[in-house]
Amino acid sequence: MNPHRMQFDKRDSGISLIGELEWGSHFCQFYQTRNDILDILLPFFRTGIEKNELCMWVIQDSIDTADILAELTGADSFFAKAAKEGKLRIIPIAGWLAGRHGMDSAVVPWLDDAIMNGFDGLRLACEPAAEGDDDCLDSADELQVISRLNVLANFLYPHDSYDAPGLMEIVRNHAFALVRNAGAWEIVESSEAKVIRHALKRSEEKLQSLFSNMSEGFSYNRIVVDKAGEPRDYIMLDVNYAFEHLTGLRREDIIGRRVTEVLPGIESDPADFIGRFGRVAVTGKPDRFESYSVQLDRWYSCSAFCPHKGFFAVTFSEITERKLAEEELRKALARLEQSNSDLQQFAYVASHDLQEPLRMVSSYVQLLERRYGDKLDADAVDFINFAADGAERMRGMIQDLLAYSRVGTQGDRLTRVDFEQVLSDALANLQVTISECGAEVTHTSLPEVSGDPSQLTQLMQNLIGNAIKFRGDDPPRVTVQAEAKNGEWFFSVKDNGIGIEPEYAERIFDIFQRLHNRLEYPGTGIGLAICKKIVDRHGGRIWAEARAGGGSIFRFTIPGGDT
Ligand code: ADP
Repeated sequence: MNPHRMQFDKRDSGISLIGELEWGSHFCQFYQTRNDILDILLPFFRTGIEKNELCMWVIQDSIDTADILAELTGADSFFAKAAKEGKLRIIPIAGWLAGRHGMDSAVVPWLDDAIMNGFDGLRLACEPAAEGDDDCLDSADELQVISRLNVLANFLYPHDSYDAPGLMEIVRNHAFALVRNAGAWEIVESSEAKVIRHALKRSEEKLQSLFSNMSEGFSYNRIVVDKAGEPRDYIMLDVNYAFEHLTGLRREDIIGRRVTEVLPGIESDPADFIGRFGRVAVTGKPDRFESYSVQLDRWYSCSAFCPHKGFFAVTFSEITERKLAEEELRKALARLEQSNSDLQQFAYVASHDLQEPLRMVSSYVQLLERRYGDKLDADAVDFINFAADGAERMRGMIQDLLAYSRVGTQGDRLTRVDFEQVLSDALANLQVTISECGAEVTHTSLPEVSGDPSQLTQLMQNLIGNAIKFRGDDPPRVTVQAEAKNGEWFFSVKDNGIGIEPEYAERIFDIFQRLHNRLEYPGTGIGLAICKKIVDRHGGRIWAEARAGGGSIFRFTIPGGDT
């Protein structure tokens, strides 16, 4: 037999004619005398008590509970002891129904109470109220509820009160009936019930093979709530192979057991599995979440739904590896961010603090030249000029370094930016240079992007400024273009200047990296480093290409080309 058939544990009925019963089984017994009842109930209850089930006998209100107890304990003192220890209870129908606490079914709160007191389930003997009574205990709804619970129930009917069709009607509602025939008990089953059971078994088997072959873990559970309706625990009714594999728990150790027993501490797990699943079972609203189980030390992605009130099914997969990788990445990014901001802070402080001594050097060199210039020989004046020149260059580098370190820290929030405006601002800033060298800057239509307008202006100013600065013999011709591709805008700034050797194309984005002589092409080598930082901050990439026909192209991307 398939070990993964949906079954909640087999229980010993204590009656050899019946043998084992699955949780949820309810049968009926037709009696003629009180002795008939005891004949079945004594072994039935004795086994239940021995197997840690709470045994309850629900009797007609007209009968005295003390009489019934006397009847039982007269048969065996074992029952007197069990009654004293709270393992056997005799209760009139009115008392049984009062346990409903506003719920539809009486059996569920009694069962939950038993579970919370450490019992495995309920074993019931019921003398149903007369037919037609609203509160009859064997209504189709109540029997349906019982069939899903860890409950075994024997319904007692007085044989002589029913005619043949009445008897058959009762038999049809239960798994089978116990009838006394010529002094011996016999099992009677209605053929209709048999047909239904077979059909059920077949569809159950189909379902089982589906669950067994699922790579996702599956579990089917019943929530246990306290008197206030708060979820406190749940009983694991069925699990599939993948469940065992993913949790490391073994089916035989968990089926029919409370989760707080299987995974002690789960009731205080911050993931609040019991509460979450409880809400699904009580409200019927499905839930989907990712959670870490402290007890199992694993991450799971869970999806819970409610097949019927009070129950929930969970499908889940383990995502520990993905979560660990995400966590590693997060830590690495945090470290990178930290070291970036340390570096930024360092660059800022260093360049800021260097300004003061540098100003001092500059002013004393100037003073020297002013006061003593005419007293010194030509070499000395040259030396003073070199020193002044050096100081001036250093001032420029410090200024650029400060500008560089500010890109990350002082950016505005990203807003919608019209790139046409960005370009025209950059060109306005470069107006003097452009007209001096007769440069021509053309562009195709440019989009709106999400960005920091002043930083984007700085970016374009640096790129176009370079395109003009590193010109060849011809007057500079610069073209700016934008094109949308795969969710990004691809921008390019193309010139007809001196071009870039491909082997240096990457290095020029590093700080202070220059390929050309300072006298021929002035500059500090920080402009492109600033460009890279700005593009990085906007979530894009930047790179340079040499153009086949001379000149170079700088390309960068900004996310959002599809919108
Ligand atoms: P700077 O312009 O101050 O030298 P950049 O960081 O802007 O600093 O540029 C770094 C180097 O990259 C430049 O010194 C130059 O050698 C090279 N470069 C930048 N833009 C161009 C260009 N349009 N054409 C050729 N070379 C360029």
